[in-house]
Amino acid sequence: MSYVDEIYAKVVEQNPGEAEFHQAVKEVLDSLKLVIDANEEKYRKMALLERMVEPERIISFRVPWVDDNGQVQVNKGYRVQFNSAIGPYKGGLRLHPSVNQGILKFLGFEQVFKNSLTGLPIGGGKGGSNFDPKGKSDREVMAFCQSFMTELSKYIGADQDVPAGDIGVGAREIGFLYGQYKRLTGLYEGVLTGKGLNYGGSLVRTQATGYGLVYILDEMLKKNGKELAGKTVVISGSGNVAIYATEKAQQLGAKVVALSDSNGYIYDKDGIKLDVVKEIKEVRRGRIKEYADAVASAVYTEGKGIWNVACDIALPCATQNELNLDDAKALKANGCFAVAEGANMPSTREATDFFLESGMLFMPGKAANAGGVATSALEMSQNSQRLSWTFEEVDAKLKDIMVNIFAKADDAAKRYGVAGNYVAGANIAGFEKVVDAMMAQGIV
Ligand code: NDP
Repeated sequence: MSYVDEIYAKVVEQNPGEAEFHQAVKEVLDSLKLVIDANEEKYRKMALLERMVEPERIISFRVPWVDDNGQVQVNKGYRVQFNSAIGPYKGGLRLHPSVNQGILKFLGFEQVFKNSLTGLPIGGGKGGSNFDPKGKSDREVMAFCQSFMTELSKYIGADQDVPAGDIGVGAREIGFLYGQYKRLTGLYEGVLTGKGLNYGGSLVRTQATGYGLVYILDEMLKKNGKELAGKTVVISGSGNVAIYATEKAQQLGAKVVALSDSNGYIYDKDGIKLDVVKEIKEVRRGRIKEYADAVASAVYTEGKGIWNVACDIALPCATQNELNLDDAKALKANGCFAVAEGANMPSTREATDFFLESGMLFMPGKAANAGGVATSALEMSQNSQRLSWTFEEVDAKLKDIMVNIFAKADDAAKRYGVAGNYVAGANIAGFEKVVDAMMAQGIV
């Protein structure tokens, strides 16, 4: 059995029931096969892959809080500190009922390579809870966040582990978490990113993942002789990533015609009016259905099905495994030629293989959504220097980073004879830097 197959079998055996983690490990290891086979003896002796697939540490804890009826509620809280070879752990916190240890391990594992790709000195981690912020009052969200941070604060710090937002964690939650951290530790430090602008946040962080996604998409199109202007785009989700991907795509001359949430999707033949979406999602915390009540040219459809909307470019920006093989085939049949992932692992393995085999341009989340964490690292730099850079400065750095990520993925794919396969390219480029650091630091 090859080293890669051996490790994958062990991961499945030793991490039962963690399907998303198995899936992420398989995708990464399969695309690293060429590199690993070429270095097998050295890596085996150092148990490099065994160490790479095992988180350095998982912290799991109880989160008790009191709801508005005076009832005590208990949630599960986690932080997966996956790999600190190239810097302090960095990665978001997710609040969603589906959260479990396996999902956070998949996200933490992906984060290691993503963070490496950014070229910045950040290791990989991820955390969160099965708490559902939907339908909760501000007071309930605060009570949960304060209890969660009371435990988490023991394990994080500006030079140790720096969490950020993810699904269900936006400016409101980061504010509550930061306030409690400061109260407990007495430290005013860059321990969380995505902070408000008046207390250490960075300009562009809110927009960063969505903008970064469109910057790398634009670069991929240009390098393949195509352009974004004038193209029809379908984007799933209507949260942070989807909203700012829509904004940047529109600024660059594309027409975004569909958005979704977990209940259904809207199609607007005239192009999405983003101010209406922002009012519904960012101000009222409402449902995407309400868009069709407000805009005459829009139609709302309940349930899944967004990938049946005809488009040139698809940007999945909601959640893992939201786009399967049938969806991928429907996209291709309707003329879609490019896909870039704003979410983490939104395409199933079969869908990803179909995109690559059918010659579509495909940029995986690990590279495509790295703009968020990259800008978080820029926020950390500004906090350390006690400085605030301008919007233009941060935006220019973000764009530069995304163009560089494309170049690294493109170059690695070419070096290993799989030109145009940005899945392999991104995994190889991210892996090389982490391996170098792990080898240099000995058996830790
Ligand atoms: P938000 O919570 O702001 O938005 C998530 C969106 O996806 C919502 O529209 C939500 O709909 C939808 N969604 C969530 N879960 C499901 C589900 N199970 N089925 C269908 N739709 C769902 O999160 P973000 O925009 O921040 O994150 C979206 C994705 O991008 C995630 O995969 C995240 O890991 C990834 N990402 C985010 C980064 C960031 O900076 N925020 C950075 C890098 C990656 P509903 O409201 O109905 O739940």
